[in-house]
Amino acid sequence: MEERAAQCSQAPAPGDGALLPVTLATSEDALFAAEQRHRVTLSSIGDAVIATDVAGRVNFMNPVAESLTGWTEIAAQGRPLEEIFRIVHERTREPLPNPVASVLQRGEVVVLTDHTVLISRNGQEWPVSDSAAPIRDVRGALIGVVLVFREVSRERAAQLASERLAAIVEGSDDAIVGKDLRGIVTSWNSGARRIFGYTSDEMIGQSITKLLPPERIDEEQSILARLQRGQRVDHFETTRIAKDGRRLEVSLTISPIRDETGEIIGASKIARDITVRKAAERALAEAQATLRGHAAELEARVRERTAELQALVAELESFSYSISHDLRAPLRGMHQFSQLLLMEHADRLDESGQAYLHRIIASAQRMDRLIQDVLAYGAVSRSHVKPSLVELDTLVEEIIQLHPALQPPAAQIAVLSPLLPVTAHEALLSQCVSNLLANAVKFVPADRQPEARVWTESLGPRVRLYVADNGIGIAPQHHGRIFEIFERIESGYEGTGIGLAIVRKAVERMGGTVGLESSLGQGSKFWIELDGVGSPLVGT
Ligand code: ADP
Repeated sequence: MEERAAQCSQAPAPGDGALLPVTLATSEDALFAAEQRHRVTLSSIGDAVIATDVAGRVNFMNPVAESLTGWTEIAAQGRPLEEIFRIVHERTREPLPNPVASVLQRGEVVVLTDHTVLISRNGQEWPVSDSAAPIRDVRGALIGVVLVFREVSRERAAQLASERLAAIVEGSDDAIVGKDLRGIVTSWNSGARRIFGYTSDEMIGQSITKLLPPERIDEEQSILARLQRGQRVDHFETTRIAKDGRRLEVSLTISPIRDETGEIIGASKIARDITVRKAAERALAEAQATLRGHAAELEARVRERTAELQALVAELESFSYSISHDLRAPLRGMHQFSQLLLMEHADRLDESGQAYLHRIIASAQRMDRLIQDVLAYGAVSRSHVKPSLVELDTLVEEIIQLHPALQPPAAQIAVLSPLLPVTAHEALLSQCVSNLLANAVKFVPADRQPEARVWTESLGPRVRLYVADNGIGIAPQHHGRIFEIFERIESGYEGTGIGLAIVRKAVERMGGTVGLESSLGQGSKFWIELDGVGSPLVGT
């Protein structure tokens, strides 16, 4: 623009002949010839040219100026320039000062702003770049102005794009740095200023190695070597030193910059400060390591405590076993001597004495049952559980055959064969099924014939065995506690409250679960769920 303006100011230089209104020639013919020469010259140049007289009225326009303004030279002749050359600011749309007027006022070259838009006669708009220069005669007197302009849509678009790009680079939070192939910094954005602390004045022209810690100084060479081969460096995590000496952890992405011929002339580097992220990662790793340490310590402590508890439980069980066992001997004595007394000395006892003896015998029997149940409960924990295939059909049949209380006329039990086989410990399972069947026929109103049903159902790899009865049922609020030892619902039925506790403990030892569905007055449906056949064997 400056250059062009300078040329323009030279175009009508003194001695070169003058533009239209110059009356320099001594003869009319010479003047006419010179004018024609200039007219031809100005008509054929690529830029638009308009000349005015000292009053700012148009007296010449070349064809490019005609096409941009939409005016013909003839139509424009003698009109004020601002009428022909209407210019506004591209963004504000404010009319811009008439360049010819400025030249006439100041007597020197005027260059238009970069944002000039020319509005043609038919309203079409052209971004233009422009300069206006004074025309002087040989004595140096101002005799007019020449305006030279050109349409610059493409240049303006390119300029806008590059301004936008520059704004993006400048606005980025990341450091965006340009460097040549020797590692000399050529550009330095505000992100780089913020991250590394150096201003662009301090870095441009300096080697990028200024940021490298001494132990990583070789890194730059290998980065440059990669770039020279046209390769990128992607998300390379490394350390750099800020102006204040702080060590920064950064992630670098470096790409080669090529000129129009494709030759690599430098590199653009994007550096992201990941110091905080790295610190967070380290803190996380430390926390995880600490947690792992704690977890291991906790596990060891739990193992230790479990072993202690197991030893204690075993000790208590063997203690309660021996007490229970030892209690049976004096109890048998009480029972047997009471019976002897009743058989051999009944004649010496009155009726109430005999009744007392009967009560002693009944209590002794009840106590013996209790002790046997407690022993059976303890035995469940002690027994070695070795699972094997158990044919439930056979097992249930044998139990029914063994207990008259489970057979007609006492009770009616329907087995919905075939029952699915299960993986279990046969003796324990037999005890569980016996207890469930015994309860099924026991907790039934006296005026009702006990009826029970037994069946199985396959649940994927597991099998559920159901025992349903037509008994008194159990209110839902008691479902949870009846599997606890000594828990009984006040019902007026004989029992010790240990049967279901044995069922649960035994089933759990075989890796199974127990449950029931029941409500008061509606009968009960108890179930045991165990592995079917083909499931991995239950551990001991
Ligand atoms: P026991 O049968 O010796 O009382 P259990 O542990 O076998 O002890 O049962 C605990 C309690 O659960 C019983 O006292 C009874 O109240 C209730 N119960 C168990 N089975 C049934 C059933 N089939 N129908 C109704 N109530 C039952």
